[in-house]
Amino acid sequence: MATETVFSKIIRREASADILYQDDLVTAFRDIRPRAPVHILLVPNQLIPTVNDVEAKHEAALGRLFSVARKLAAEYGIADKGYRLIMNCNAHGGQEVYHIHLHLVGGRALGPMLS
Ligand code: 5GP
Repeated sequence: MATETVFSKIIRREASADILYQDDLVTAFRDIRPRAPVHILLVPNQLIPTVNDVEAKHEAALGRLFSVARKLAAEYGIADKGYRLIMNCNAHGGQEVYHIHLHLVGGRALGPMLS
């Protein structure tokens, strides 16, 4: 059984967050430590700890993450100039919270991806 993180509490609205979007499969909220003018986290409502835990049954929720990311990028005015979608996996990938999430980052030029 995977261990819940603060993201499950945010999804259930038991922990505070600036929730921008929620439906039956996914939730999107502002990152608490934004690294760009727009920094939104998109998470499946169901706990999946890492990309290594993804199964076929998760495909609907994971597909929804991208369609909602596209919608929010347009809504927050970063679609035309561009943005970055990032999903970190495990320690070497820089993952801190073990409930998979897509970072939607934009609003400034982000430069090369790897550092
Ligand atoms: P990771 O490094 O796991 O890909 O990214 C985790 C992200 O979650 C970080 O950017 C961090 O700022 C954000 N984060 C961690 N705890 C919270 C929280 O309680 N609320 C919100 N809104 N964001 C959080």
